[in-house]
Amino acid sequence: MRYRLQAAADSAELRLSRSAQAIPVATPLRVLLVEDTLADAELLLMELKRGGYEVSYERYTTEAEVRLALKVGTWDLIVSDYSLPGFDGMRCLQLYRESGLDIPFLLMSGTVGEEIAVEAMKGGAHDYIMKDRLVRLVPAIKRELREAEARRERRSFMEQMEFIAYHDPVTRLPNQRLFLQEVEQAIRKSSPGDGQLVIAIPEIAKFKEIRTTVTQADYDTLMRQIADRIWLRCEGMLTLSRVDDYTFAALFPADKEADPAAVARSLLTAFDEPYEIDPFLLHLDASVGMAVHSPETPAAGMLRNAMVAANQAQEKHQPYALYSMAEDLSSPGNLALLGQLRDAIRGGELELHYQPILELGTGRITEVEALVRWNHPELGLLQPEKFLGLAESSNLIIPLTAWVVDAAFSQWRQWHESGLDVDMAINLSVRNIQDRAFAGYIAQRAKEHGIDPGRFVLEVTESSIMTDHEVANDELMRLREFGFKVAVDDFGTGHSSLSYLQRLPVDDIKVDRNFVTRIGENPQDLAIVNAVLGFAKGLGKRVVAEGVESGEALGILRDIGCHLAQGYHISRPLGREAAAQWLAKQKLGR
Ligand code: C2E
Ligand code: CA
Ligand code: CA
Repeated sequence: MRYRLQAAADSAELRLSRSAQAIPVATPLRVLLVEDTLADAELLLMELKRGGYEVSYERYTTEAEVRLALKVGTWDLIVSDYSLPGFDGMRCLQLYRESGLDIPFLLMSGTVGEEIAVEAMKGGAHDYIMKDRLVRLVPAIKRELREAEARRERRSFMEQMEFIAYHDPVTRLPNQRLFLQEVEQAIRKSSPGDGQLVIAIPEIAKFKEIRTTVTQADYDTLMRQIADRIWLRCEGMLTLSRVDDYTFAALFPADKEADPAAVARSLLTAFDEPYEIDPFLLHLDASVGMAVHSPETPAAGMLRNAMVAANQAQEKHQPYALYSMAEDLSSPGNLALLGQLRDAIRGGELELHYQPILELGTGRITEVEALVRWNHPELGLLQPEKFLGLAESSNLIIPLTAWVVDAAFSQWRQWHESGLDVDMAINLSVRNIQDRAFAGYIAQRAKEHGIDPGRFVLEVTESSIMTDHEVANDELMRLREFGFKVAVDDFGTGHSSLSYLQRLPVDDIKVDRNFVTRIGENPQDLAIVNAVLGFAKGLGKRVVAEGVESGEALGILRDIGCHLAQGYHISRPLGREAAAQWLAKQKLGR
């Protein structure tokens, strides 16, 4: 087809046949031509036409003209003569490089010697063509255009990855990672006399219920509406972020006039009127939690404190609360629970539940994740969210993890001996991996239990690694040296980027359930899981999808080649007995 076009180029026949039937059209090509000899320019244009290009071009001969043309024009290609009166090809090349454009640059000459050609290529020209060998022109242009296109695609992919790493795809607001960087920057820039910075979080009542009752599309729309309204109504706000699925965080300068109460009030105006989620009007009720910067609290600590304050405000049904350290652990309920937890760890009130993990390629259950529960004498079975925070903000997390590790090791051994042969995952807390003695400790316990560390995956969340990633990195490397596998948990919740994964000493990546549960409905989620998979495969890591709640999600994950899956659709976490019975009915092992 292309051949026909070439033969017919320039003739009336081409125009006729074009309108008569849709034969392929010549490829448009916008050429910036730097050439003083008209005859040479015409030869070149003929050659391009013959090569199937529909050329539009501008021809210039002086530096000033070229400079302007590079700035204002849109070009696919630059062809420059090597020698021009008062200007030359090498200078033109330099202008092109300074312009930052990434399009093919070809140098032409009647007299190019080898050294000049080498110099031109070194200077960044893509090719050089002798005027008496114009047959090389079209193939060279085709090749260079293809490569420029490939470079563009790579660049745009990297930009997208970069954007995903730093933004919430739904609202396009900065994610937690970028937000923390912005807060740190603001802290660095502020001087002691400036007053303080405040992080403020509007916590919306019953939001998790709303999240599960509206469709994903409606939820996304709602999040965008809230973001827009906050931006409109909060004067003086420095930045707004979506720090997790449910939470916005805003940074304000707290100068002398703008007291925290005023900050809270301005945020709350975003919830004065209802939101429209067709056909409903949704009245949202919010409380604001705030934390003020102090020299002891870095950005991440401030954010955490603001979240604690938001919780407090919500629980006490106050419009806002300012974080105070004294209040954090001191609510009477918390304090009592904390006192009891100490005894519970010693007194056998903790228990482990186990959630199976499915290897998608083989259909085997290769692993279970151990999840702690507190069987409280009065309150019943407490989920970890009720007591882990308390344990983590006190030293109790250390004996708690020690208990979990021992319980997991002995359970594994018992199952192993009775033929239930699966690997086991254990969750570690930030405190464990920031503790330089931990790897040695757990390796020693493994020895004492007589178990193989290679059968255990130690899970650490992204955020706990980010807390002090140098210490964490060392500790993770030591754990792997002792033979344990390491997984990064809740990946994608906004703290680290894909490129950061490259440097992490981990075996598995557990993609957070936020990206998995609705993978069938939400193309963004699918794109993200796919990107993580691509990246992980390149690095020889396995990907575990968490929160698989439907057969549809499972099917998609299998289709895209995800390694492992975990979620209610496969099984909920099960108590020891129930887990053993369940496992006995499955294909197990690696
Ligand atoms: P995680 O490590 O991300 O564990 C998975 C959590 O997601 C579990 O909640 C599990 O019940 C839940 N889950 C599993 N499949 C699905 C699903 O399909 N849909 C939904 N919506 N949820 C699903 P759980 O057991 O309440 O644990 C909560 C978190 O507590 C864990 O999150 C982990 O970070 C922490 N945790 C649990 N046990 C321990 C422990 O022994 N030590 C430490 N340090 N942390 C633990
Ligand atoms: Ca986990
Ligand atoms: Ca997780």
